[in-house]
Amino acid sequence: MDSTLQCHHAECKVKYTVKMLSNVEVVLRWCTRNYHHWKRKNLAFASSYATLADSSSPNTFWFNRSIMKHEKQQQKYDSFLVLDFEATCERGRAIEPQEIIEFPCIKINVHTGEIDDIFHQYIKPKLIPIITPFCTELTGIMQEMVNNEPYFEETFFQFQEWLEETKCFNSGNRSIFVTSGDWDLQVMLPKQCQLSNMDIPFEMKQWINIKKAFAAATGYFPRGIIDMLTKLQLSHQGRLHSGIDDCHNIATILKALIGRGFVFEETSHLKLNKI
Ligand code: AMP
Ligand code: MG
Repeated sequence: MDSTLQCHHAECKVKYTVKMLSNVEVVLRWCTRNYHHWKRKNLAFASSYATLADSSSPNTFWFNRSIMKHEKQQQKYDSFLVLDFEATCERGRAIEPQEIIEFPCIKINVHTGEIDDIFHQYIKPKLIPIITPFCTELTGIMQEMVNNEPYFEETFFQFQEWLEETKCFNSGNRSIFVTSGDWDLQVMLPKQCQLSNMDIPFEMKQWINIKKAFAAATGYFPRGIIDMLTKLQLSHQGRLHSGIDDCHNIATILKALIGRGFVFEETSHLKLNKI
């Protein structure tokens, strides 16, 4: 049976007709936009995610073939530390200095996809201590939720203690932070550490941007968390822009990609000239 494959990339929109599903891999190789992200070993995974539309069905769908056991590769990490900061904000303009007001981190066991531990702390902003109505509307964080909470400095010490206690980077454990986008660790943490006169720990200077990993896995660069969940046919839980809910939803995406055999690699590292 002939099948029509539509490339996921918005700019590409090319349709290919293939005779056999194994040719999907070849089609994905033709599309070059994200090709440099692709690793040979992930091509089988990518091909399982091609959007396949046959002539009898006008609707495209995600071809959800689970990867065979023997095709599964060894993951490089033991834990994923899913992190999603929320910060002070205002509608249509930047707040300067912007400060972190929610600090959630979920530790995921890479081998099972299950949650091992959670760190979660709301933070009182120090320099501009007002949570704007826009910020409350966006994040669900109200003034009363931060008034009696610690400042960033204390929270960041507690977080580093939590990393030690939960053995994220000691006892031979290999962990890496996971965020949706590069903003959390490329922009917000460096700005906050500068304001607080604190060092960024070495372990937070490289991370997996799940949007880049998703693109490497599927050939489609997602707009955000909801887009990834939709493509995976999974439902969104809680509230978008709540840090802890965003972490849970990122964890759901990770678990789905782990289950399908995608091998994760670091996608991003701190570039000092971008701060
Ligand atoms: P997110 O991780 O997407 O939930 O957003 C992180 C932070 O980015 C939020 O806490 C806000 O400070 C800022 N932010 C996100 N979306 C907007 C927006 N539409 N307008 C202003 N700031 C935003
Ligand atoms: Mg968020």
